Amino acid sequence: MMKPSDINISAEHALVLFSGGQDSTTCLAWALERYAHVETLGFSYGQRHAIELSMRPALLEKMRAIQPAWSSRLGEDHLLDLGLISQISNTALTSEIAIEMQANGLPNTFVPGRNLMFMMVAATLAYRRNLKVLVGGMCETDFSGYPDCRDDTMKALQVALNLGMASQFRLETPLMWINKAQTWALAEQLGGKALTELIREHTHTCYLGERGQLHDWGYGCGACPACQLRAQGFAQFRESQNA
Ligand code: ZN
Repeated sequence: MMKPSDINISAEHALVLFSGGQDSTTCLAWALERYAHVETLGFSYGQRHAIELSMRPALLEKMRAIQPAWSSRLGEDHLLDLGLISQISNTALTSEIAIEMQANGLPNTFVPGRNLMFMMVAATLAYRRNLKVLVGGMCETDFSGYPDCRDDTMKALQVALNLGMASQFRLETPLMWINKAQTWALAEQLGGKALTELIREHTHTCYLGERGQLHDWGYGCGACPACQLRAQGFAQFRESQNA
C-alpha cells in the first residue's frame, strides 16, 4: 500500500543545507518527505567547535534508519571547505571571544554574509548536480535577528541567483515562520518519536561545543543563547503535548 508520503512526493531534486544541528535535521526530514531525491551539503569554515559537523555522517545513517523511503531518497552528502570565512571575519563563532550583544543590536555570533555565501555556494553545487530546490533552516521567528536569515533576504537572493546563473532554483525555508517549539512539533509530525529522539540525542546546537550532560532537550552547556533557545523550545513543545 502506498503511504500518503509516496503519493505526494515531488519528482524534483533538492539540496539541503545540513549542518548537523536541530534545524537542519528537521529541514532534511521535511525534504525527504517531499522530494524524490535529496542531497545534503555541510560547510566547514573554522567553527570554534566543529562538533556539529563531526556528527553529520552518523546522523545521516540514523535518518536512513527511520524510514525506508527516506533511505532510498537520500543521496550524496557534500562537505565543502569555506575556511575563507574565518579569514575575513572575526566573530564569536570562529574566534575564542565571549558571546555578547554588539552596539548594532546583533549578537557577535553573527557572521556577516555567511548565509548569503552558503546559499550561493549551494546554488553553484546544485547547478552542477542538477538539483532544483535549495532547502535551508533560516528562521525569522525565533532567532537572534540575523538579517541574512530573513524571508526578504532569501527571496531577494533567489532572484539574484536565478538571474546570475540563468536558472530556476527555488529556495525553501520550512522553518521561516515557526518558533523552536513548533520546530520540535514539525519533527515529530514528520518522523514521529524516532525523529525527535534522534534530534534530541544526536544533533548539536551549543555554541560552546559542550556535550557532557544529556538534558531532556539534548546535550549542551544550557547557558549560551543557542542552548537557551533550544531548551525553552523543547519545554514549550512538551507542555503543548501535555495540554
Ligand atoms: Zn550552550
